[in-house]
Amino acid sequence: MDESILVVNSGSSSVKLALFNKNLEKKASALAEKLNNNDAVAHINGISEPIELPQGADHQQALQALIEIFTRTGLLKGSPFAIGHRVVHGGETFREAALIDAGTISAIKKVSGLAPLHNPVNLVGIDAMHELFPSVPQVAVFDTAYHQTLPEKAFRYALPKHCYEEWGVRRYGFHGTSHSFMVQEAARLLGKNVESTSIISAHLGNGCSITAIQDGKSVDTSMGLTPLEGLVMGTRSGDVDPGLFDYLSGRGVSASDVHAMLNNDSGLMGLSGHTNDMRTLCELAEQGDKPARLAIDVFCFRLARYIGAMTASLSHLDAVVFTGGIGENSAQVRQETIKHLGLLGLEIDPDLNQMHGKQSDHRVSHSDSRFAILTIPTNEELVIAQEASRLASN
Ligand code: AMP
Repeated sequence: MDESILVVNSGSSSVKLALFNKNLEKKASALAEKLNNNDAVAHINGISEPIELPQGADHQQALQALIEIFTRTGLLKGSPFAIGHRVVHGGETFREAALIDAGTISAIKKVSGLAPLHNPVNLVGIDAMHELFPSVPQVAVFDTAYHQTLPEKAFRYALPKHCYEEWGVRRYGFHGTSHSFMVQEAARLLGKNVESTSIISAHLGNGCSITAIQDGKSVDTSMGLTPLEGLVMGTRSGDVDPGLFDYLSGRGVSASDVHAMLNNDSGLMGLSGHTNDMRTLCELAEQGDKPARLAIDVFCFRLARYIGAMTASLSHLDAVVFTGGIGENSAQVRQETIKHLGLLGLEIDPDLNQMHGKQSDHRVSHSDSRFAILTIPTNEELVIAQEASRLASN
């Protein structure tokens, strides 16, 4: 047996694989895309030769091909020690990562109605790895689990109570692995214990969410029943008036078309009419493109409003933390967001901001800022590997 840990993140038509050694250092990563299509492709970082996938390869065939190469190149020697899987929705059943057995699988299936696009494909990845390595412990790490500490006043919607009691309609929150990594990293950087560290964590990628973390625990978060609520995202609208459904149905747009529009054609993409890529939007805005300018303005203003709102959930604050592709790389978004928050005493240092937190303390805040502002790269794969290693060792 090898001592390495495999991390699997399976999406509807893709699967990402990462390989960690026993010291939790990443040794390799791979991606297979366009699965179940004639043009399925795969890449392994650092290996330039094209990877042959059978025509129309499915998740299992892709994983098998990638693992064969990991084995042939000596990256993996025999079976791994443990396999960690990203699972999007754990409902109220999972408050933390879980070893996968028949009971875990049936509980994941039970909550799949809450994430119909994600949980079933996560299970496909679990099945595929079980076929390949039947005796290796597998661990499910849930996007929602970290938010199971939300108090009821933060997770309940003001709807008739049977919506919650019979149908599970409540705020669950997502990106939990990233937010929990942020508080661990912020505590380390600030020289504090996680249990006494309180932050506002903004994960800004294609999906965006913000979480208030009090003494290491999630106490409020912007995503809700589904990952559609809250901040403006790449193609997702975030908050809208639910009256929109009725209003548009009066104009011949069905509920499922509104749902598709809110998920796929809204956010930065919808506002700009061009792209969901923040880099491109910043370039276009610089050249005077008004819709691109507006998309950035709405994104930053909504984010600033949420940062302000999250302070209502905290009794103290150690830092505001930016992460995700936009949070880590866009000095402009950080600057324009924090500009709205002078009343809270938050202030960016323009020179530090240009360093994107690459210096050892990761600070982008001015020395006069009332609270630290940090930029920290997220590492969800590492958290999954840590959890898989921890549970498989027990
Ligand atoms: P993620 O989903 O975390 O990979 O983040 C994707 C988002 O990060 C896209 O909107 C990218 O445009 C954005 N992004 C990545 N690099 C930069 C950059 N240097 N400046 C601005 N946005 C960036």
